Amino acid sequence: MTAVEAGTLAGGTVAGGTVGNEARGSAAPDAGAAIRAAAARIAAAGQSRPRPARDPVNLPMIRNWAEALGDANPVYTDSEFAAGSVHGGLVAPPAMAQVWTMRGLHPAADGDDDDPLHLMSAVLDEAGFTSVVATNCEQEYHRYLRHGEQVAVRSSLESVTGPKRTALGEGWFVTTLSTWYVGSEAVASMMFRLLKYRPPGSAEAAVATEAAVATGAAVPAGAAGEVLRPAASLDTKFFWDGTAAGELRIQRCGNCGARRHPPGPMCPECGAARPEYDVAAGTGEVYSYVVHHHPAVPGRQLPIVIALVALPEGVRMVGELLDVSPERVAVGLPVRVSFVRVDDELTLPAWREEER
Ligand code: ZN
Repeated sequence: MTAVEAGTLAGGTVAGGTVGNEARGSAAPDAGAAIRAAAARIAAAGQSRPRPARDPVNLPMIRNWAEALGDANPVYTDSEFAAGSVHGGLVAPPAMAQVWTMRGLHPAADGDDDDPLHLMSAVLDEAGFTSVVATNCEQEYHRYLRHGEQVAVRSSLESVTGPKRTALGEGWFVTTLSTWYVGSEAVASMMFRLLKYRPPGSAEAAVATEAAVATGAAVPAGAAGEVLRPAASLDTKFFWDGTAAGELRIQRCGNCGARRHPPGPMCPECGAARPEYDVAAGTGEVYSYVVHHHPAVPGRQLPIVIALVALPEGVRMVGELLDVSPERVAVGLPVRVSFVRVDDELTLPAWREEER
């Protein structure tokens, strides 16, 4: 389903009963076996105890969140408007699910003793996989929460896969499933995946690769197996299918026609969940850019140029600007898309200066 899974080339999956009986590709097979055993034990324990939200669903939190996110929907904050809506009263933004059970700045230490992510992280820390980067997060909302409702969260360990070689270093992907409840009713859930990895060499090297991954710039030439892949979801699959086919696809609302990028499930203009796409002309101009000189990016010769490209179709995309000296790059530079094939499963869009 996801690009991260596509990148899991070696190693077994723990949980669901599939436990690898050997550690492949690891320098310490015993450590791998111990990690798998711990994962199997934690997964078998099932859901953690319900951890209640500190406060019931409430207007002040919603008001601050909606303001910060720029969500002006009055059904969240205006009781008169909400009373006349399909909800018949105030509701909370569904995307706030996790907000209610955030632990705060100074969480109690005893709240973690059966949290599967906490337990699994401790096992991996112990084995030397001390660095962490989040790779995937998918939330599902089963219904709207009403103001005053008391939420609790429970988490379980879905899978632990590894050891994997990634651009960041060797590590293990840990996937948890959190479910939010009101009483016994599940109201929202979240799949969350992170990579716990052993920092290769210095701490600085780890920081460098994280920065590169954050910009989407890490494409170690000739080292396809070491690319940390972008996460492809149901919402973004069309985009990656497009790059593989040599097309730059832009999501378009099937209802109002508004284009948007990056892709998402719903139209920010009209709220419709009917995404379609257009194929872009492939042209654009540099809207903004950075020249990355430091820190080092494994497999790359620095500097590299990362551009925010404005497309004539009305959206902007981030990508590497190839084969151009940093001195030449300027806002307004005309560019054309170029597709960098990493392997059968991944082709990245990049940009080159347009010949005039
Ligand atoms: Zn729309």
